[in-house]
Amino acid sequence: MDELAKTRIAQVLHHRKAGLSLGEPVVPPISVATTFHLPEAEGAAYYYGRSGQPTWDAVETQLGILEAAEVVAFPSGMAAISAALIATLRAGAKVMIPSDGYYVTRLLGRDLLAVYGVVVVEVPTLEMATADFAGFDVVYVETPSNPALDVIDIAEVCTRARAAGALVIADNTTMTPLLQRPLDLGADLVVAADTKAPAGHSDALFGHVAGRDAKLMARIREGRRQSGSVPGPFEAFLVHRGIETLELRLARMCSSAAVIADRLAAHPRVKALRYPGRQGDPSYAISSRQMQNGGFLIGFELADAHEAEAFLARCPLIEQATSFGGVHTAAERRSRWGDAVAPGFIRLSVGIEPVETLWSAMAEALDR
Ligand SMILES: *Cc1c(COP(=O)(O)O)cnc(C)c1O
Repeated sequence: MDELAKTRIAQVLHHRKAGLSLGEPVVPPISVATTFHLPEAEGAAYYYGRSGQPTWDAVETQLGILEAAEVVAFPSGMAAISAALIATLRAGAKVMIPSDGYYVTRLLGRDLLAVYGVVVVEVPTLEMATADFAGFDVVYVETPSNPALDVIDIAEVCTRARAAGALVIADNTTMTPLLQRPLDLGADLVVAADTKAPAGHSDALFGHVAGRDAKLMARIREGRRQSGSVPGPFEAFLVHRGIETLELRLARMCSSAAVIADRLAAHPRVKALRYPGRQGDPSYAISSRQMQNGGFLIGFELADAHEAEAFLARCPLIEQATSFGGVHTAAERRSRWGDAVAPGFIRLSVGIEPVETLWSAMAEALDR
């Protein structure tokens, strides 16, 4: 992680200090209030729980430091993605989304945006690098793509999109603002599922939108109030706590992933492997420019669906679960959700287990 990311995570750990008065709690309280003392209508920090409340503020401050931007928190990653798209599109508008990205985003395009008169065009991530953006209002990228881990040059997309008059929204879930900073590369908005690495313990759904255009962010904040798509205070507290150890967890997860990727690639049972941080991977050239490291996700292929399922069932240190970014190493066969990958393709999310212990368990499950 670079110095900027380290400085920011240190700031995150102490963000409450300057605002504390004598005897106040160091950690943010879980504020469950829906109403606030309001003898006058003007001048209060909070007035009604759907409009704003202190536990959300604590997380938005943390994420704001990491993104160096304004942040609006949402109850899930999809809520954040919907809010960003609704704020930037209207009937007749045209949006390009990846055909190989998070599949619920595609469903949102088909089942919600299209119904409201938005033209949704799906393009594979790698083809977006050369796609013509003329006539598009929004270009939506997700890099590395999920689950194939293809990578696209965000700065280049942003330059071309700007020239074509389109806004760029980047789903930065797989990287987090500590590992990749799309806003610095020219993206107008970042959307992310904090359900994943930021919360980190597979126990809270959460999301956020980040951006540096005050007018656009005000529209997104007001959209949250009108749609009522608001996070719960307990989830906000859990995410706040998760973010305090995000850098520490990512450091372990990503360094372990680099080791595991090399070992898997050398294993005779493994037919193919994708890890953007591995020299020789098709994503390596761009990822080493725009990502702090290769991340914690690995895609690899075993002979067939049966062998992949048997491996997952045999390995005691891999949770068979969907989702990623948690402290527990987790994996699944992605074709079971219809992703366009081989039946034996496994997406592995490396957790915080000591790496040699994890590898021993994986090697034993592969060799058996
Ligand atoms: C999980 C995920 C989402 C959706 O997040 P939820 O919190 O589950 O709504 C969006 N984008 C990506 C890349 C994801 O992995």
